[in-house]
Amino acid sequence: MLPHLLFRCFKGLCFIGREQKKNGKPLHKKVALITGSTSGIGKGIAESLANHGCDVIINGFGDQEEIKKLCADIAMTYSVRAEFVGADLSKVPEIEDLHEAILKLFPEGLDILVNNAGIQHLSPVESFPVEKWDFMISLMLSAPFHLTRLFLPYMKQKGWGRIINISSAHGHVASPNKCAYVSAKHGLIGLTKTVAVEVAGSGVTCNAICPGYVETPLFLKQAADRSKDQGISFEQAKSQIVGIHSSKEPVKIEQVGEIAAFLCSPAADQILGTSIMVDGGWTIK
Ligand code: NAD
Repeated sequence: MLPHLLFRCFKGLCFIGREQKKNGKPLHKKVALITGSTSGIGKGIAESLANHGCDVIINGFGDQEEIKKLCADIAMTYSVRAEFVGADLSKVPEIEDLHEAILKLFPEGLDILVNNAGIQHLSPVESFPVEKWDFMISLMLSAPFHLTRLFLPYMKQKGWGRIINISSAHGHVASPNKCAYVSAKHGLIGLTKTVAVEVAGSGVTCNAICPGYVETPLFLKQAADRSKDQGISFEQAKSQIVGIHSSKEPVKIEQVGEIAAFLCSPAADQILGTSIMVDGGWTIK
């Protein structure tokens, strides 16, 4: 019985090996949803996963024509499926609609979920707008919970899955005027660890990536605001912000993308519940 089983496993592995070889890409036939992928880090992660052969679902706000072009470009450049499914992820009914829409496109559900969508708002805690707090917690902490609860069963069923939460250096340390952001990002680390211990041994992993400052529209807006508030040039504002990194250099979008792809590789099978710091040596100080 045992030799027969081993032979079947070996045949199975050879088949997987042949399939991958045929396409030459390790994530061939996997399906990933990357939230907030019409811009910045999310878009970079979608491109990295697609480059590794993954079909990608783009989500986020933006001009419909530009989003169509983004999907077409990804599909053509990487020879994968690239679909757009829109939703305001701060709203639970829209998350549930997105789940249904994805099942219509990919009836076997997701293999990879990247919880990335997020925004920033700066204000002292006593004047932090209440509706902004609610929105940011919904988008950056509750949406990852809802998407995890909805899509994890498909991953467990397949015996393989990856949940990657884009937290932040601010998931580990605080900065003034960012109470909602810092709270959501710390909370996301807690969710990551909890899901990781629950799924351990099932073939599914859950981890967080914690970038420092990455040159995206979210970062550039902070630099523009600082330049206006402090009467300094945009370039000075940018280097002041990035000055918190030991390296004094910003993180590149592609670097975060490739770390997400690494977390989807077999080398990362035993990486569970961790935070990968990509912060130019900010939080080690
Ligand atoms: P970005 O502004 O370039 O992109 C944000 C994305 O989220 C966009 O696609 C946007 O449409 C989408 N989005 C916003 N609100 C949404 C909503 N309600 N529903 C669905 N999608 C929504 O920002 P970014 O810098 O690429 O940030 C992406 C993630 O990385 C965020 O979670 C952010 O906190 C995190 N992060 C960014 C930095 C940085 O320096 N840029 C550093 C650490 C962590």
